[in-house]
Amino acid sequence: MGSLAKKVCVVTGAGRGIGRAIAARAASAGGVVVVADIDRAAADEMAEALGGDATGAHVDVASRESVDALVGGVVDRFGRIDVLVNNAGWDKAGPFVDSDPADWDRIIRINLYGVLHTSRAVLPLMAEQGHGSVVNIASDAGRVGSSGEAVYSATKGGIIAFTKTTARELARSGVRVNCVCPGPTDTDLLASFAGEKLRNALVKAIPLGRVGDPADVANAVVFLAGDEAGFVTGQTLSVSGGLTMV
Ligand code: NAD
Repeated sequence: MGSLAKKVCVVTGAGRGIGRAIAARAASAGGVVVVADIDRAAADEMAEALGGDATGAHVDVASRESVDALVGGVVDRFGRIDVLVNNAGWDKAGPFVDSDPADWDRIIRINLYGVLHTSRAVLPLMAEQGHGSVVNIASDAGRVGSSGEAVYSATKGGIIAFTKTTARELARSGVRVNCVCPGPTDTDLLASFAGEKLRNALVKAIPLGRVGDPADVANAVVFLAGDEAGFVTGQTLSVSGGLTMV
């Protein structure tokens, strides 16, 4: 039996990249995984690839109505939510002084409001259940900053602070909330702003000598999500090959 045996796990942004790896790792740990993504086709395809009880679902985390519909659907089907992984995220890199407020809105709506919407919908359920575990995917950009990612960094720093506060508020209800901060990790998001030159520079700067694989992040998430981390809450874990040591 895996560490997430029979636990109902909702993973947002699980159609590709890090979220997809989290969904796969959670399923291999025995979880009943809800693969939620704004890209419904990718979510369904991933759920089908996982097989078993895995199910695909549409969600736009930036929309409270959409999040409420997702959570309502999961509760109707499974009766509970044991694990929530807030992974969906987006960025458009560039110098802050040239940035467009329309892009700020989009980054804040997806990255920060997304976590607020899902947390507002799921935390009361978990408190009522008397158990639950939330893992928020922030970023090392939220701990140490990242040139070209000012607003993104602000949302990720916000997620880290939000994690600590919800961890405090929900601890007595048996609900844990933790945060994982990936460093540069091999996904479409990284490819969207790191060409070969930057990628090589990153590999040079990372003490463990490579960029992250989505599975590296997934392993940390599944540890924090499961009962083996039963005495861990409000923590921020960087998975970055030692690039940051904070
Ligand atoms: P990605 O772009 O490869 O995948 C993101 C997924 O989220 C996609 O499937 C996309 O369809 C989905 N998504 C986007 N907007 C959504 C919305 N509004 N509602 C629901 N789903 C939505 O990105 P990734 O690299 O896998 O990033 C996953 C998380 O990890 C993000 O929160 C990101 O900020 C964080 N992160 C990534 C890196 C990295 O180097 N890749 C580093 C630090 C943090």
